[in-house]
Amino acid sequence: MLRRTKILATLGPATDKPGILEELINAGVDVVRMNFSHGSAQDHIDRAKTIRELSQKAGRRVGILADLQGPKIRIARFKDTKVFLKEGQDFALDINLDPLVGDNTQVGITYEPLALEVRPGSRLLLDDGRIVLDVVNVENMRVNCTVAVGGDLSNNKGINLLGGGLSAAALTEKDKEDIKTIALMRCDYVAISFPRTAEDLHEARRLLIAAGCHAGIVAKVERAEAIVPDVMDEIILASDAVMVARGDLGVEIGDANLPAVQKLLIKRTRELNRVAITATQMMESMIDNPIPTRAEVFDVANAVYDGTDAIMLSAETASGKHPIKAVEAMNRICLEAEKQSIVRVSDHRVNIQFERDDEAIAMSAMYMANHTKIKGIVALTESGSTPLWMSRISSGISIFAMSSSEETLGRVTLFRGVFPICHKIDEKHDHAEVNRDVVRELRKWNLAKDGDKFIITKGDLTGVKGGTNALKVIVVGQGLTP
Ligand code: PGA
Ligand code: MN
Repeated sequence: MLRRTKILATLGPATDKPGILEELINAGVDVVRMNFSHGSAQDHIDRAKTIRELSQKAGRRVGILADLQGPKIRIARFKDTKVFLKEGQDFALDINLDPLVGDNTQVGITYEPLALEVRPGSRLLLDDGRIVLDVVNVENMRVNCTVAVGGDLSNNKGINLLGGGLSAAALTEKDKEDIKTIALMRCDYVAISFPRTAEDLHEARRLLIAAGCHAGIVAKVERAEAIVPDVMDEIILASDAVMVARGDLGVEIGDANLPAVQKLLIKRTRELNRVAITATQMMESMIDNPIPTRAEVFDVANAVYDGTDAIMLSAETASGKHPIKAVEAMNRICLEAEKQSIVRVSDHRVNIQFERDDEAIAMSAMYMANHTKIKGIVALTESGSTPLWMSRISSGISIFAMSSSEETLGRVTLFRGVFPICHKIDEKHDHAEVNRDVVRELRKWNLAKDGDKFIITKGDLTGVKGGTNALKVIVVGQGLTP
């Protein structure tokens, strides 16, 4: 059985070791994340090139997602790399302090307006909430705090404001530079960090298009402002995929609110025909250990039950000790979770009128597939819309997206239950000949045997965007098929 839930793995020093990337791909990684918060442009360009070569060698399209750093607010550095903060002591964040000389009474920061956007009583969370500071007052742009929760604090750790409300725009000057690199790398997706509203995503899209990049846009939902009901829908609609970025989001809204928000975000994202990614700390203990905790096993399975398209690994693969084992663990947990009937039945869009014929055909194909004995669906697609609509419906049936468009093949790598197959169809092809080609292609990848029934969706004019107007049923080895 093919795994439907996609695995997204972050690259980093641990995956740069010889042979590891290839093993990662063989272990089942569908999409890799290049994290632009770390590493040079050249590092990312080199990794993208290696991924393309390896994916060619494996005969399987692996998607590339470039993740922009965004306006992550950070402390500067300490004289001695790290300090220990005691509960109850004073500690100050100061924009005017030399960024290299922090000590255990004060440290520099990278975000100018912080002093203007906090007030006495504001709570600041550092290093994903491990350190908590309460603001006492602000003097000359210096934010004086007391330590509510202490511990070790090291260079460049992130700062969040509980409840959100920091005004930084989502795209920084560095992001705008990185967009140019990303355009050259021909990434399949670009993730925008900390968007506040849909406008941040529209701006990102304008900049990407101006740079000649047609990657899909991933909105990382990681600010309290982004989950206000109407804003949430607008953000989803402005993007191609949405990431439940549980790290920063959990710090801003409080960890106890995360599970409900994850479920709601995934549900709304699917309803609005967009793709959902669940991210952060899914296999956190595997940074050090070869097996996941029981809680992590449940977290991965629950994300599958919630309907996520993809699950993401961060430090587990980028800098952990067991990157391959983390992917293998996710793979086996997803395969088991996907056997449960709750992830195979669907009431998605049963009460709505479809606007387009191709959309209605996609829905009909899924209805038929879920209610008869079908081995798989083949969507001959130029734009990728048909497999996207299909994959919004819960099902156990594999959807093969056959396309000659590199852009489309890259996009579908994130869609749950959709598998990209590079296949060139000539525009004036005879229809029986198209069916024969499809079956030959399936046989080539060992996906079909005699007697298997497949649904094919296609257009009269194959090779044309938005032209799907036919649904055909074929049985392998019977009639005109080889
Ligand atoms: P990050 O985003 O890994 O870039 O911080 C994900 C998150 O905040 O969960
Ligand atoms: Mn984040």
